[in-house]
Amino acid sequence: MRQDLERVLLTRDEIAARIEELGRSIVKDLGSVSESDGIVLVPIMTGSITFIADLMRQLPLRVRIGLITASSYAGTSMESSGDVVLSDAQFPVELEGRHVLIVDDILDSGGTIRRVRAEIEARSPRSVRTCVLLRKKITSALETPCEYVGFDIENEFVVGYGLDFDDYYRNLPDIGVLRSDVVEAARASADE
Ligand code: 5GP
Ligand code: MG
Repeated sequence: MRQDLERVLLTRDEIAARIEELGRSIVKDLGSVSESDGIVLVPIMTGSITFIADLMRQLPLRVRIGLITASSYAGTSMESSGDVVLSDAQFPVELEGRHVLIVDDILDSGGTIRRVRAEIEARSPRSVRTCVLLRKKITSALETPCEYVGFDIENEFVVGYGLDFDDYYRNLPDIGVLRSDVVEAARASADE
């Protein structure tokens, strides 16, 4: 796994330190939230699986979680299909009148966040904010409304810490860039 990386972009320690800061900002901004109000976290699976586990433990609030699943990258593709597919059983938690925080791994085309935000806004929440661990330095991402960003990164395909390539590498503790020969080999075997 680790040997498939060309380089590490963000180490587990850098990620952990930044998530502590994000948690502090989120709690500070929700300062006036009474204990009984709490917030609803809406993590977008599967990429945010690791991030939400770490982030939620930095939020000493009354928290509920409503997982949703979205996918726009298929198999060994490294580009968003632009077609965001939300799974059927959406929003198991009541959102009306609640403070909602959407949590995702990475902001790329922005299609996922825009789509999910619109769905949530239609359910009359008290507030909606978005937190992503990574954001690519591309116009579509930078122009997508997002209140909390862990790191702005170059426009390259990254894996680890929940982010996958063909559903692998999510368990890498660090975030890095794959070697091109690894990508080519995966594509060649997918074509067989
Ligand atoms: P968007 O809808 O913003 O184009 O895409 C967001 C989703 O695409 C993310 O939640 C993530 O699952 C996937 N994605 C975007 N960029 C990358 C990347 O560099 N690496 C990986 N592994 N997934 C990405
Ligand atoms: Mg995702």
